[in-house]
Amino acid sequence: MSSPTAGGGPVRDPAQRGAVSLRGVTKRFGDTTAVDQVDLDVRPREFISLLGPSGCGKTTTLRMVSGFERPDEGRVIISGADTTDVPPHRRRVNTVFQSYALFEHMRVAENVAFGLKVKRQDRETISTKVAQALDLVRLGELAERYPAQLSGGQRQRVALARAVVNQPEVLLLDEPLSALDLKLRQAMRHELGRLHTELGMTFIFVTHDQQEAITMSDRIAVMDQGRIHQLGTPTEIYERPASRFVADFIGETNLLDVTLVGTEEGAATVRTPSGEVIGRVQVEGARTGGECVLAVRPQRVVVVAEVAPEPQDCTLFGGVLVDLLFLGDATRATVRLPDGSELVAVRHNEAGTHPFGMLRPGDRVKVGWLHEAACLLDR
Ligand code: ATP
Repeated sequence: MSSPTAGGGPVRDPAQRGAVSLRGVTKRFGDTTAVDQVDLDVRPREFISLLGPSGCGKTTTLRMVSGFERPDEGRVIISGADTTDVPPHRRRVNTVFQSYALFEHMRVAENVAFGLKVKRQDRETISTKVAQALDLVRLGELAERYPAQLSGGQRQRVALARAVVNQPEVLLLDEPLSALDLKLRQAMRHELGRLHTELGMTFIFVTHDQQEAITMSDRIAVMDQGRIHQLGTPTEIYERPASRFVADFIGETNLLDVTLVGTEEGAATVRTPSGEVIGRVQVEGARTGGECVLAVRPQRVVVVAEVAPEPQDCTLFGGVLVDLLFLGDATRATVRLPDGSELVAVRHNEAGTHPFGMLRPGDRVKVGWLHEAACLLDR
């Protein structure tokens, strides 16, 4: 059992430096269970995102890692040591907040130096570390400015420099990009990726923006109602959602209510409400029968003219094209099936060609997908 030391945080196993584990962590506020029995293992130097809708418990989870909230149940283990009862300033973690929380009356360099001064480091060390941190976020030139003289993106960089200057083992980022406009947000995603690589720190990033999570993370924990629904790489989460909630929350998905007819060698045969039988649907885990939902991404949906030959490895069935929508870089087609449900297909627009050929709204079409593109989930 490790114990807190005066140097800041408990004694640890070096191989665990930067690892974070939550074990059965629960946090209640009155009648609200904000975080409900969460288990999570973040690997050293991993970039992990907590992703989910507003109120799902992301920030509360992060605050239990930082120490600003204490769990009602469960343990928080940081860098191999049980840290549940260690106060925030003794944990080797730092947080970047959405609001930046800069000291407006201090210059940029003074903002970054603040934590080091509190820790009574000597003047030379402070000056070297501040210069390094500002160089890291490419703000060396602006060290003498006040926060009011900076753009939103520059202010966020100061907040980042201030958070990393103490060389924490884990950096916690609570929606740090959400106050920035779209262009800046996209630029800052690259910056954060670069920082993560250069610093070799564990990053735990809270966001409700799936694009942010998908483009930056090694793994994503998708949360809803205080629980983690799925933990996986962006590809796993996108291609193999573990539940209807995840499929619906990450990207656009077609969800068709179907009945399972049978399974063989990891693939299922299902029947749609209008009676079409669809084979070779991917199944994760055993499903024995009954009502399910079939999930398929719009990018994987095939729409062809009624008279077109059936492509290989693809089951097609009949429908009517009810809408074609030009989205700029892509076109979106909506096909209505005989039972009234709709399937959406999205295709990138190539110069000079129409992604859905000569098809027009009102045409009878065939619609389907490559067999491996659909998966079956609980309803
Ligand atoms: P958002 O994306 O909107 O920030 P979130 O996923 O980070 O949401 P949390 O802030 O963790 O969600 O909140 C989870 C639940 O706990 C919500 O229902 C919220 O209202 C509640 N909650 C959070 N903090 C408190 C508090 N200090 N007192 C009472 N209820 C709280």
